[in-house]
Amino acid sequence: MYRPVEYFCEHCRLRFESFVDSPGPKWLECSTCERPAERVISAPLAKRFVVTVDRGRPAETPYPTAMDTQKLADGMKQSEWRAQRKRLRDERRRARIRRMVS
Ligand SMILES: [Zn+2]
Repeated sequence: MYRPVEYFCEHCRLRFESFVDSPGPKWLECSTCERPAERVISAPLAKRFVVTVDRGRPAETPYPTAMDTQKLADGMKQSEWRAQRKRLRDERRRARIRRMVS
């Protein structure tokens, strides 16, 4: 039965999965450096061993009026930021009222 089996390459310090006939060979060629990688027991917690991190990227705004302090952190004046927040709220309020009356 073919299933994903996990291997670990000492050289790359990398865990990777390979679809092999379970339980799979004890050694398999590393997907990166082609050196032998040893079969390891799949541990659910160690599964996502390779992670990518986007440094310095602001998180997406969860909803339109969500507090966005990004510009404030970038040096925007607080009064200016507050005015912008107010404009956004006013705009949305007007749009809501327009929808209600039409
Ligand atoms: Zn390797």
